Amino acid sequence: MTETTNLLHPKSEAHSQFWQNAHLYFERIYNTMNLDPTWRPVLSSPKRVLTVSCPVRMDDGRIQVFTGYRVQHNSARGPYKGGIRYDPSVSRDEVMALAMIQTWKNALVKLPYGGAKGGVVCDPRKLSLGEKERLTRRFTYEIMPIIGPDQDIPAPDVGTDAQVMSWMFDTYSMMIGHQELGVVTGKPVTLGGSVGREEATGRGVMNTLRKYLATRNKALSDVRIAVQGFGNVGYHTARLLAQRGATIIAVTERASGIFDESGIDIESAGQYYRQNGTLDEFPGADAISNEDLLVCDCDVLIPAAMENTLTEEVAYHIKAPTVVEAANGPTTPKADEILRDNGVTIIPDILANAGGVTVSYFEWVQGLQNFFWDAKRVQDELQQVMEQAFDEVNAKADAADCDYRTAAYSIAISRVAEASKLKGLFP
Ligand code: NAD
Repeated sequence: MTETTNLLHPKSEAHSQFWQNAHLYFERIYNTMNLDPTWRPVLSSPKRVLTVSCPVRMDDGRIQVFTGYRVQHNSARGPYKGGIRYDPSVSRDEVMALAMIQTWKNALVKLPYGGAKGGVVCDPRKLSLGEKERLTRRFTYEIMPIIGPDQDIPAPDVGTDAQVMSWMFDTYSMMIGHQELGVVTGKPVTLGGSVGREEATGRGVMNTLRKYLATRNKALSDVRIAVQGFGNVGYHTARLLAQRGATIIAVTERASGIFDESGIDIESAGQYYRQNGTLDEFPGADAISNEDLLVCDCDVLIPAAMENTLTEEVAYHIKAPTVVEAANGPTTPKADEILRDNGVTIIPDILANAGGVTVSYFEWVQGLQNFFWDAKRVQDELQQVMEQAFDEVNAKADAADCDYRTAAYSIAISRVAEASKLKGLFP
C-alpha cells in the first residue's frame, strides 16, 4: 500500500485539520526514529472505518437519522479499544484522529490493546433520556458486527457516560443471548463496572503531574492550576488535585467559567454545575471566559475539554510554564512548536490522560474473570502504571534530549511497529 493509493491518508482528500494534525505529529516523530519506512503507511492508516445511519423515533413522533462512526486504527497489540463520543462536532476525520491517538496511548501504557474510537453526530444535551437510549441501542446494533470482548471494546468519552455504556452492554447482551461483561467498559459498578473507573482519567492526570513536579523538587501544594473543561475529566482532575493541596484558581466549561485566586471549592462548583448545567453565577468566585483561562497567570494549565483549543494564536500568550493535556489533541502542532520554543513543558495526552483506558482495562479483566477488585487495588495499580509510563518517558526525554511528546510517541510507535513487524502481513 502506498500513501497515494490510500484514500484515508490526509493528503489524498480534503481532510480536517485534526486528522492532519494527528498525522503531522506521527510523521514528525516517525522521521526521527530510524524505523523501516515500509511500515509507515500501515501504522498511519486506520484499519477499518465504519459509517452507520441510525434512524430514531423522537418523542414528538418524527424519525431522525443520526450518523455514527466506529474507527479501528491498529490491532497489532491486541483487540481494539477506545471511547464513544456524542457531540455535534463529531466527524469521520475526528474519529479517525482520535482512534490513531488511542493506538499510541494504549501502547505507551503497555495495555494489550489496539486503538479505536467511535462517535455519533448529535447533541446529547438536546435529547430526552428516551431518545438517547433509543439512539444508543440502534448505534450499538449497527456497529455490532465489529465490536465484542475479543474484538473491539468501547468506553465513555465526551457526551457519554455509565448510563450510555449500560444500554450498549444490554443491547449487545440481548442480541447474543447472554450477558457479556467484557463488551464495554465504563459501566456502572452495579452492572460489572470497576470501582474507580469514573474518576480514573482525572486520577491518572493527578498521578502524572505529581510525579512530574517531583522531578522539579515541587509538590502539588506548590502550584496554582487552571483547568479548561469541567466534565468527567476536568472535574475529577480538579477535585483530586485540590484534595492534594493544589490551588485550582480557574475552571471553565463550554459557555461559562469561574476564577478565584485563593482557590475554588471544587466539590461545591461540581455540585453547582451538575444542578444548573452552567458555572454562571456560582457564588464566591468571579467569572472568567475560556479565552482568558488559557492565558491566565498560573503554574499549570490543564486543557480537559476538546481538541485544538491551544492554537497558534493562543500559544504566544500562554503564561503557564507547564501544560498537562488531559483532553485528547488539545494542542495543534504549530502551537506545540511555539510552546516548546518558549520553554513550556507539555505533558502529552497519550501519557497524561491514559488513566481512563488503564482502569477500563482493569474493568475488562475483572469482567472476564468475574472477580472484582476494591478501590485501593484499582488506585494502587493505576498509580503504578502511570508512574512507570512517566518514568519511561522522562528517561527517554533525558537520553534523547527531546520533549515529552517526542519521547512518548517514540516509545509508543516503536512498540506498535515491533508488534506489526513480528506479525507480518496477512495473507
Ligand atoms: P465530558 O463530556 O464529560 O466533558 C466535556 C467538558 O468540556 C464539559 O464541561 C464541556 O462543557 C466542556 N467543553 C466542551 N467544549 C468546550 C470548549 N470548546 N471549550 C471549553 N470547554 C468545552 O467529556 P470528558 O469525558 O470529560 O472528556 C474531555 C476530554 O478528555 C476529551 O478530549 C476526551 O476525549 C478526553 N478523554 C476522556 C476520557 C474519559 O475517560 N472520559 C479519557 C481520556 C481522554
